[in-house]
Amino acid sequence: MLPCSAASLKRLTAPAAGGKLFHAYILEGGRGVDKLRAAETFAKAVHCVGAAPRPCGICSSCVRAEHGNHADILYLTRDGNSIGVKQTEDLQARLRGKPFASARIIAIVDEAERMTPQSQNKLLKTLEEPCGGNIVLLLTVNASLLLKTIQSRCILLRLAPAPGAKPGAFAELAADFVPKLAAGGAYYELSRLVGAVTERDAADDFLDALELCLRDALVAACGGARGALARADILRLIDCAEEARRGLGNGLNVKYALKTMILKMLSHRFGG
Ligand SMILES: [Zn+2]
Repeated sequence: MLPCSAASLKRLTAPAAGGKLFHAYILEGGRGVDKLRAAETFAKAVHCVGAAPRPCGICSSCVRAEHGNHADILYLTRDGNSIGVKQTEDLQARLRGKPFASARIIAIVDEAERMTPQSQNKLLKTLEEPCGGNIVLLLTVNASLLLKTIQSRCILLRLAPAPGAKPGAFAELAADFVPKLAAGGAYYELSRLVGAVTERDAADDFLDALELCLRDALVAACGGARGALARADILRLIDCAEEARRGLGNGLNVKYALKTMILKMLSHRFGG
């Protein structure tokens, strides 16, 4: 699992340290990005009773959180393949109660895209009528997989992988793919390159690695480096990768999602 970048974490914990907090956030990041760790760091920073910079890591609250037994940090994770209505209702009941050990309760919903539409509609009530300064953190690979009504009630924070983090087994493949794309590689060549990616998990990993490569290229392009791809082109390619990720999230066949992505990338590349 990749750590999320220092900049992302700072963005996340800054309001926590300063006291101005919203009641609901979506933390969006690739499958390989450690969103849970980022959410826990946020929760620790909010609950921390030690000296700044928070989380201090040594106060009683930080230590409890670190050991996973802070009474006011709640987790909602999938049961089987999805997060159902009953689970969501249980969480809401807790959120209506009082915090035990601090000023507010923080609920972390991992893989929020696994919430059934019914669960999301249930949760909406909590987001519309937040109680007692409680905070809900929705972790997801892609915010657009959540209901629009949910999205509109949350602040969206995009978590980037830490620069230089190794995105797993597909780093090399992605590092090979991007220059070939930039050099005007043919469809069959690019398609053959990703031929080994047939499983859903592998496809997610590959897209993580691909996005990381593209973001590196973007940083270089923004820094004035002369590369084969212009900034606008790279942004389009990232959009194509994100679209493929959404497609996979919606159950699209892996081969089809990647094929479509490559065709879109090739058609976009020299669009200006
Ligand atoms: Zn602390």
